[in-house]
Amino acid sequence: MIKAVRGTRDLLPPETALWNFVEAAVRDVFRAYNFQEIRTPIFEETALFARGVGEETDIVAKEMYTWEDRARAASEKGQSLTLRPENTAGVVRAYIEHKLWDRGLNKLYYIGPQFRRERPQKGRYRQFYQIGAEVIGPASAGSESPARDAEVLEMLATLLDRLGITDWNLELNSVGTPADRAQFNDALRKALEPVSAQMCDDCQRRAVTNPLRVFDCKVPEDQPIIETLPRITQFLGEDSRKYFQAVQDILTKVGVRFSLNDRLVRGLDYYTRTAFEFTHGALGAQNAILGGGRYDGLSEALGGPAAPGIGFAIGEDRLVMSLKETAEGVIRKPDVYVAPMAGMNGEAARLARELRRHDLVIELGDDGFRLKKSFEAATKAGAKYILIVGESEVKADAFALKNLATGEQISVPRAELAGKIQG
Ligand code: AMP
Repeated sequence: MIKAVRGTRDLLPPETALWNFVEAAVRDVFRAYNFQEIRTPIFEETALFARGVGEETDIVAKEMYTWEDRARAASEKGQSLTLRPENTAGVVRAYIEHKLWDRGLNKLYYIGPQFRRERPQKGRYRQFYQIGAEVIGPASAGSESPARDAEVLEMLATLLDRLGITDWNLELNSVGTPADRAQFNDALRKALEPVSAQMCDDCQRRAVTNPLRVFDCKVPEDQPIIETLPRITQFLGEDSRKYFQAVQDILTKVGVRFSLNDRLVRGLDYYTRTAFEFTHGALGAQNAILGGGRYDGLSEALGGPAAPGIGFAIGEDRLVMSLKETAEGVIRKPDVYVAPMAGMNGEAARLARELRRHDLVIELGDDGFRLKKSFEAATKAGAKYILIVGESEVKADAFALKNLATGEQISVPRAELAGKIQG
């Protein structure tokens, strides 16, 4: 038997109703903040992620699905392509390619699959789904303002509340400007020199190439050493500190709660200044529902003009997981099971068509079923009513409607059916 590939999975009904519920809420909430949807390709040139996400990140160093595409001519080399591991680099590429700065401030969101070769476990997949948004544009359009950071964070708080996810925790940090980071990296390198030999292989490499990434380490034995390292907060310049304080002041003003976490540096190299994560207690080890931050230098790193920006990505798989307990009402079962008697498929289809126009969910049976089998099918489908379509009913233009929960059965004229069922 051929099965879904390790780390991928089928999303089946009724759970897909939860996915649709989440996506509908997302579109609704984001619209209120004037975000519009963007859809970028699922694969891109490998160089985009190497440059955009960072060579030393776990994502680029270990987790990408990369292949060499067939060459166009025998003399040429095939292009190196990669399934997108995240969507920010793709959005910024599109920003540059289509000169979206002409539109001023861009507020874009996306919903779609991402691919990372991580070790699969509960809440961690190799094909997973992200809902993300980016605010990007020239600084003259207001893209480099603490007001933008705070608006994005407030929007996320609103979305989670709207979905009924209440026990979230917003963790906030500033990773400073590239200049702050350079000083911090020097200090880290020095602090790591005498201790890195006792750390995991990844950290030994990071200590030399990109010391900041040591904070991504999850190896328990390394944590006591990491605890003793200097923190970015000690290296923030005056501007970065002021900016960070301004973001916090707005959040306090609008009533969005947060906690500061000076270890939070996020697993991607492009972040500057504000970095954040929302966690949720009920999720267990993989408790981050979403992460994001500011990436003022990304456009330039990808060969574009200066375009400060801030964005986030929500793990949709995890969002749906944290929702499951509260989302009973989301899954819509049939209102009516229409059961045709022998030879009545046409009449039943006509009636079903009429009822569906009234926004009712109708499951249509088959005139090959005996009545007992129709009742079983209606119960299995979770229908509220069964509606029997026989020759005498059609002649009388009134139909037997039975409430499957109470057992009550009444005869209802065709014109009154929809109203009766809705009531
Ligand atoms: P990142 O792009 O790494 O900042 O991740 C943003 C969010 O995507 C995380 O907070 C997770 O909720 C989700 N996420 C990242 N990787 C995975 C994965 N392999 N499986 C499921 N969700 C993921």
